[in-house]
Amino acid sequence: MTETSAVAGPGALSGPVTGRQKVLFIGGLGRSGSTLVERLLNEWPQTFAVGETVHLWERGVRNGERCGCGAAFDQCPQWQEVGRRAFGNWSEVDLDRVIGLRWSVDRSRRLPAILRAHRTGRLDPGQLDYIDHLRTVLLAAAATAPASDDLVLLESSKHLSTAALLSLDPALDVRLLHLVRDPRGVAYSWTKEVARPEAGNELMPRYSPARTAARWMTDNLGFEVLARRVPSLRMRYEDFLANPITWLYRIGGLLGLPPDSVETSFLRGSTAHLSTPMHSVAGNPLRFGGTDTVLRLDDAWRRSLPRRDRMLVATLTAPLLTAYGYPLH
Ligand SMILES: [Zn+2]
Repeated sequence: MTETSAVAGPGALSGPVTGRQKVLFIGGLGRSGSTLVERLLNEWPQTFAVGETVHLWERGVRNGERCGCGAAFDQCPQWQEVGRRAFGNWSEVDLDRVIGLRWSVDRSRRLPAILRAHRTGRLDPGQLDYIDHLRTVLLAAAATAPASDDLVLLESSKHLSTAALLSLDPALDVRLLHLVRDPRGVAYSWTKEVARPEAGNELMPRYSPARTAARWMTDNLGFEVLARRVPSLRMRYEDFLANPITWLYRIGGLLGLPPDSVETSFLRGSTAHLSTPMHSVAGNPLRFGGTDTVLRLDDAWRRSLPRRDRMLVATLTAPLLTAYGYPLH
């Protein structure tokens, strides 16, 4: 695919594109530590966290769930300004159509069509229309972000399909942070009950270890494929927690930031002092956490995930598990 031919015609930007907007896409299976990584990166002066745009339309615009700043979506001045700049107002968006597009275009089972678009450079009308909406929101968010010479939007949808769709857009310079966590920890986390305070403490879905293991394999293999097409950095969550400063510099390198502009002063020992408000939409309840956060590996799965489940997950994920340097047993 060529950089200028992927999105054209009905999906083209209506205004001039003066430069490609940098987007750091945090990709990986849910419960891999993305929210903590996002919160730390949000402390950088260059970054602005938009949250999970894949869920923006339903959870934010339609349901009015709480933004990362704590305000309801329709009360958050940041998101209201984004809506004005993007569409005149959020009420101007044909929500049923966009949500329909999201469910017909941006999901795992549509990956073959998305990868075909990567190969051929030709997108179908639904893909063009959907990407057009995401890009419009992202560029409006960039315009409302605190000024920075080298602004980077933090996108934490995590979904492979969303990453692959966004990276088709020539107006966006998508860099992929491929986040990996030990699948036994991920599997254990998906068996636990987690409430979503932004949605009346409704519980997040739970999945069996076998289902999580299968998803861990397919998602990570997919990200490996995408990593051949976009600048990317694979980061094990466990490594990040062990050496956060080293990894912050590596992420800065992925984004082309000069090393002396990589901010790490908010880290003192294993505590992160988080002071920058975050306007991320959707996402893990952890984003409402306090300002001081201790970086500590949650390895409760070693004690609490039944042995048969640990064995099952290790067996189902063995090829990648060992390739990523995790012990089989
Ligand atoms: Zn907000």
